[in-house]
Amino acid sequence: MKSGYNPVWHPFTQHGLGEPIPMIERAEGACLYTSDGRRIIDAISSWWVITHGHRDPAIMEAVKAQADKLDQMIFAGWTHPPAQELAQGLTQWLPFDLPYAFYSDSGSTAVEVGLKMALGYWANRGEPRGTIAVLEHSYHGDTIGAMSVGARGVFNQAYAPLLFDVATVPFPAEGAEQASLDALESICRDSQTAAFIVEPLILGAGGMLVYSPDILAQMAAICARYNVLLIADEVMTGWGRTGTAFACEQAGVSPDILCLAKGLTGGSVPLAVTMASAPIYDAHLSEDRAKIFYHSSSFTANPLSCAAALANLKIWREGDTIEGDTMTRRLDDLCERQAQGLAKLTKTPGIAGGRQCGTMIAVDYEVPDGAGYLSNLAPQLLAFFRERDLLVRPLGNTAYVMPPYCIDDADLTRVHDAMADATSLLR
Ligand code: PLP
Repeated sequence: MKSGYNPVWHPFTQHGLGEPIPMIERAEGACLYTSDGRRIIDAISSWWVITHGHRDPAIMEAVKAQADKLDQMIFAGWTHPPAQELAQGLTQWLPFDLPYAFYSDSGSTAVEVGLKMALGYWANRGEPRGTIAVLEHSYHGDTIGAMSVGARGVFNQAYAPLLFDVATVPFPAEGAEQASLDALESICRDSQTAAFIVEPLILGAGGMLVYSPDILAQMAAICARYNVLLIADEVMTGWGRTGTAFACEQAGVSPDILCLAKGLTGGSVPLAVTMASAPIYDAHLSEDRAKIFYHSSSFTANPLSCAAALANLKIWREGDTIEGDTMTRRLDDLCERQAQGLAKLTKTPGIAGGRQCGTMIAVDYEVPDGAGYLSNLAPQLLAFFRERDLLVRPLGNTAYVMPPYCIDDADLTRVHDAMADATSLLR
């Protein structure tokens, strides 16, 4: 056995660089605790999943209570109360006209399901269409379909033979909005275009790139004009990140298909759901077994996960969190504190620019070696933050803060200060 051998192969980790991999033993609120007693501020919500805070008491209680009743069961042809109640709750509470819920396990599978629903819709109507339109710089997950509709680059070039072609719409950067809308319109005019998949308001892994609700509304209008299905991937943006429960709300857009995961359970346990409009469901509704929606996985609608999601939905529906605060006030307050932090950061020499979308802020460091995910600055930044007991995971030369909503002033200020201090790496 090689010295330092560890059988665990971690995601998005180059083990050859020998970076330390801290051992986390427990979590609470906005923090993770290592086995050697360090308190780590979770400034990225453990990869964008934790919303209210780690181990939210109401969600943990719901999981424990469900564990005493039913752990796991097949979901093809059978059902259980948490799945029923959750679907009912989501269809009633979501501010969209999406009356059907299809469960899966992760953001990537929610996207796969959404893509298959879109193609199934057209095929079952006898008008098969095969092109998916996507936004430049998008990220939708790491399964084959989700990778295909995401940006191509170092992450997936080895797997290119497995990926299908898509029609790419340029990102609507400031000043280039009309070109982006025109490109979408020209793609939608093609009768082969089945759907447009989009991360609403902010492209996460693509570098926290933001665009306005007005552009999103215009994109949705173009899709509607040409009968192209709109798939909103709110895997990251959903459950409050953009300052409202869902990003599409800010544009007054109701997608045909909506992908939710991450914060669906408050980030506590894995669950995803793809919500569908009535026409999508109806296109699959038939006495013809060939029109079945052919998708499943073993853990579809796991009862423990559905119980967690139900407890999360109750928090949102009732508007209250455990400290008697309301969700709206809590989100507004975090947006304001993040805005103050960003205002200071963008005045810091060495920071080339910054942006905010609701509860999330991002800054770009000036890089001598050229921007990009493989910028030499990225691992230096990662180590810098880790040494300060902060979980901040830069995207190339971009560092962002996307904390759990319970983060207090002292911890958030510590994160902002460290982001400013990290400019010392540039000297
Ligand atoms: N879609 C978006 C917008 C995401 O940000 C992500 C993950 O970060 C995914 C899909 C994939 O989700 P998961 O990692 O749960 O498969």
